[in-house]
Amino acid sequence: MNPGKNLDYVQTTCPYCGTGCSFNLVVKDGKVVDTAPYDRSPINEGRICQKGKYAHEFVNSPDRLKTPLVRKNGELVEATWDEAFDIIIKKAKETKPDEFAVIGCARASNEDNYALQKFARTVLKTVNVDHCARLCHASTVAGLAQIFGSGAMTNSVTDIADANCVFIIGSNNFEAHPLVGRRVMQAKKKGARIIVVDPRRTPTAKQADLYLQHYSGTDIALLNGMMQLIIKNGWEDKEFIEKRTTGFDKLKACVMQEKYSLENVSKITGVPAADIETAVSWLHEADVSTLLYTLGITQHTVGVDNVRSCGYLQLLLGNLGKWGGGVNPLRGQNNVQGACDMGVLPNVFPGYQKVTDEAAIKKFEKAWGCEVAAGKVGLSIPEMFDIMADEPDRLKFLYLMGENPLISDPDINHVIRALENIDFFVLQDIFRTEIAEYADVVLPAVCYAEKDGTQTCSERRVQRFRKAQDGPGISKDDWKIFADLAEKMGFGDKFAWKNASEVFDEMAALTPQYVGMSYARIENEGLQWPCPTPDHPGTKVLHGETFNGMPEGKAALDAIEHRPPNEETDAEYPIILTTGATIWHWPSGSMTRRSPSLNKDCPTGWIEINTEDAKELGIKNGEFVRATSRRGTVDVGAKVTPDIKKGVMFMPFHFWECRANWLTNSAYDPVSKTPEYKACAIKVEKIPEA
Ligand code: SF4
Repeated sequence: MNPGKNLDYVQTTCPYCGTGCSFNLVVKDGKVVDTAPYDRSPINEGRICQKGKYAHEFVNSPDRLKTPLVRKNGELVEATWDEAFDIIIKKAKETKPDEFAVIGCARASNEDNYALQKFARTVLKTVNVDHCARLCHASTVAGLAQIFGSGAMTNSVTDIADANCVFIIGSNNFEAHPLVGRRVMQAKKKGARIIVVDPRRTPTAKQADLYLQHYSGTDIALLNGMMQLIIKNGWEDKEFIEKRTTGFDKLKACVMQEKYSLENVSKITGVPAADIETAVSWLHEADVSTLLYTLGITQHTVGVDNVRSCGYLQLLLGNLGKWGGGVNPLRGQNNVQGACDMGVLPNVFPGYQKVTDEAAIKKFEKAWGCEVAAGKVGLSIPEMFDIMADEPDRLKFLYLMGENPLISDPDINHVIRALENIDFFVLQDIFRTEIAEYADVVLPAVCYAEKDGTQTCSERRVQRFRKAQDGPGISKDDWKIFADLAEKMGFGDKFAWKNASEVFDEMAALTPQYVGMSYARIENEGLQWPCPTPDHPGTKVLHGETFNGMPEGKAALDAIEHRPPNEETDAEYPIILTTGATIWHWPSGSMTRRSPSLNKDCPTGWIEINTEDAKELGIKNGEFVRATSRRGTVDVGAKVTPDIKKGVMFMPFHFWECRANWLTNSAYDPVSKTPEYKACAIKVEKIPEA
């Protein structure tokens, strides 16, 4: 930033989705006033979607937090940093390590998240560290690591445009990741066939050459049926399978069962048999196909198995390690990849080094110069909230950075029970969101436009945030809040960073994927990990020759059976509800709903109801209806449309006044602990007249 100039352009990266677009912040008289294109970004080449275009609008909202707040006589009142820290430290000293729950933030920078987990593990001495990847792509991290040895997007955003066939399952990327959608359209223009699998005819599905409208929760059945057809036709890549995989016989024995015959799979999924055959033949005819997925795959009680099934389809076709191929999870929030890389997870240190591995524990104790909480896996977010709700004495101190579980977590009544029970709650955020009403101390942080730092997008590219203006009041960088708190607690020498670049350097030295990176090296376009040496160019496509981290360097195929969602429909709750994002807003809406332009285009939420279902229920388009699950009720406007499958309804999840998560099920995948946001049973009725 050059505060001496009247007008300045500051290159930065988008704070919304995981695509990783760059743009300039336009700064006038020291304040961010607009965005402008940054043409040299390899990801978005100067284009941005409407969320990016208006990403300056929330920055100077009048309700930004400006000072710490502490609760006195039941009210949150302004306080100094010292007053707030003294209250936190007093309570922390009364709390045992296993009684802490610490939650990081996938919107904050790598430096902020690195500092958070280091603070939790060294100062609070707790293993209970997690963040909201748990709620979206923890199934990706676990599932892809199991089969490939690495839980990240295998390819890059650019090479999607060079695929001959694009297979999209459970991803509405035209709305949730629009600049990825642009690459899909580029592939289509070059002649690629686009196949979309989704219970909703989304804007993405409307651009498809073949649209498979399946029932939510039947992905494995569909993928097993497709793999049976591939094997029956002898279309599997035999050489690739032989040289680069293990477990083919087990996979084959599973998918060749009669229950995955074309006829049966068509019945389970609701997809016409001829369409499944067409999809398989198009994948066979393509030299190289890419597979894209997002939360439609991961947010299920079978999320990890869904992810593995996607990987198996691509392995069977030999589409790994190739430009234009791969298995490509499009990460939700801007830095969800980075927060995972930083070890804000209960089972790993930075760089996915296991907290149960003796060598890793020694490495971090030596580097950090003190004892580190490790040796056992800590609690995940759903486990934390289950315990807070049902065993109130086990967890006593919640430290939450930048999230609002009152909108984003499943089964809101369960979340409220947990928050009412917690003894002490510190919230660190840029806004006083609704969850602050449960907090004992609120700490004000700067936002992406007010700090230097880095974030890591879906394609593993590490890019810069840059400070374009000062933060409001006495707000601070998140990493600096942890450093100052640590200093007051006697750990100052372990957190003595002068700036974000020093935090990055410490982190990179300890994180194998980042070792070759520095601020100087990622200055303009960033670098894609793994980047193991200071002269390494970064990695566009993973698994080119070998699957690092897997036995014999081979990918692991296995048998996966279809299992229905945790909650099936019945006579009382006959509808499947699925949830998702819109093009205008981003998860809990704390930033996008403070953008006047985005709010004007999309002021509130809705429920999508199939035209025939609406007729049977006597519901008209635009009418307010009551949706009820076994957990809660919400009144919401109806959008009647033929675009959603009969028997399935959809709600976007951003809106406080009509929260989809009053209804959703907190049941989660046993491995990833990711909740089943994408399928629960509801009923919908007209609102009785008063
Ligand atoms: Fe930002 Fe995603 Fe839009 Fe790019 S596609 S401008 S990263 S919200």
